[in-house]
Amino acid sequence: MISAATASPGMMKMNKLTIVGGGLAGSEAAWQAAQRGWQVELWEMRPNATTPAHNSDCLAELVCSNSLGSKEQLTASGVLQQELRQLGSLVLECAEKTQVPAGSALAVDREKFAALVTEKIINHPNIILVRKRVDQIPPGPAIIATGPLTDASLAHALEKLTGRGFLYFYDAAAPIIDGETIDYSIVFAASRYGKGQADYLNCPFTEEEYREFWHQLSAAKQVALRHFEKDIYYEACLPVEELARRGYLTLAFGPLRPVGLQDPRTDTEPFAVVQLRKEDVHGNLLGIVGFQTNLTWPEQKRVFRLIPGLAKAEFARYGVMHRNTYVDGPKIFSGNYRVKDRPGLYIAGQLSGVEGYLESTCSGLVAALDLHATSQGRELDMPEGTISAALARYVATPNRNFQPMNANFGLLPAVAGSTKRERRAEQARAALEKMLRFTKNPGENC
Ligand SMILES: Cc1cc2nc3c(=O)[nH]c(=O)nc-3n(C[C@H](O)[C@H](O)[C@H](O)COP(=O)(O)OP(=O)(O)OC[C@H]3O[C@@H](n4cnc5c(N)ncnc54)[C@H](O)[C@@H]3O)c2cc1C
Repeated sequence: MISAATASPGMMKMNKLTIVGGGLAGSEAAWQAAQRGWQVELWEMRPNATTPAHNSDCLAELVCSNSLGSKEQLTASGVLQQELRQLGSLVLECAEKTQVPAGSALAVDREKFAALVTEKIINHPNIILVRKRVDQIPPGPAIIATGPLTDASLAHALEKLTGRGFLYFYDAAAPIIDGETIDYSIVFAASRYGKGQADYLNCPFTEEEYREFWHQLSAAKQVALRHFEKDIYYEACLPVEELARRGYLTLAFGPLRPVGLQDPRTDTEPFAVVQLRKEDVHGNLLGIVGFQTNLTWPEQKRVFRLIPGLAKAEFARYGVMHRNTYVDGPKIFSGNYRVKDRPGLYIAGQLSGVEGYLESTCSGLVAALDLHATSQGRELDMPEGTISAALARYVATPNRNFQPMNANFGLLPAVAGSTKRERRAEQARAALEKMLRFTKNPGENC
């Protein structure tokens, strides 16, 4: 029997699908749907109109770094790459064909990569590329994947659809670290003056440690701001490195103030304290409070690991500062990036609340699979324990402080193992095994 996934595109009944935005998510979604026999119209506004970050008329343009993350099997991006490979991702295939040497990272020649994705899309017999800006939500089956810099009129239409206040403009985010990688012999749980529950974890500084941290932070390397980001930088909350540069004690009297906190090891108030707050229900993911930052990612790793207790911290998501438009997924999604109140409508990519190149690609892929399954009266049951399923679940799960999320192990179910390495290995193994089982059954699953 020929399954949906293996049928040649011309063999199936043609359903029409509109995809808005030819970035990573939109291009991936277009490819996946077209491969399953959908007649896809992909609307991309460039080059007639553009975003402040894009420079070319190519689809899938990488707006900043040329890295799609580590290829190592024991990293979340490494696992996600393997999942995407198993799922037949176009973006991953093009990235692997255009990669450049970059140690353990999957880095690409950005021009060759975007050109290859564009060529594949425009040559697909089931895809028509329309170079035009879209200002309204299209009727019928549609996937909106217009990214973090979604053009204003479409953003307005989305806001009307999802309800006032449901669309966030996100400007500065603090890093999130993996709770398993903290040194609990140093970090302690407590609330100020012992009031309420001990919801925060506290990283206590001696004066010496604080001085070194302040010194390194003040001199650390930042990402160069683009002209459209400068307003955010000055008007919204200041990055932690900027506060540090304002004076030696600015942080100690600001976000790092220690008042009301006693270090149980010394029974004294530390010189300064960095607080960590739970970002998910299990407390696997911890945000560094007040640490919105524009430091480069390697500098965040180097400098924030000087915080007592975080010497071996792993970053589930680095801090970022850029305009970022995303919907309040937990309020609007019913699962797999499907909009609850509008059958056939999906929001994918960074706009859905995932963060990063691979994550956006993955959400476009899952949205297309879900649309296809739903049109056949099936449910797309993404396998629990994979990063692809976890990201889709994350953006649809109620969360007091919903923020865009990168792929990370904290999103996966906990597993047994005496060392972190063993646990990561088990999580990675389980994810890939489940994805393999899922993709072996293309007719039923994808
Ligand atoms: C300044 C900046 C730097 C970033 N740096 C990184 C990084 O280094 N690493 C990383 O992993 N992620 C980075 N990101 C996040 C990055 O944007 C996403 O990872 C990824 O590009 C999102 O993919 P996407 O397909 O959702 O959106 P995009 O890749 O942005 O694609 C959206 C597409 O929609 C088009 N479009 C927008 N509005 C309309 C409209 N109304 N009609 C028609 N077309 C429209 C755009 O032209 C664009 O082609 C950065 C984001 C920004 C803004």
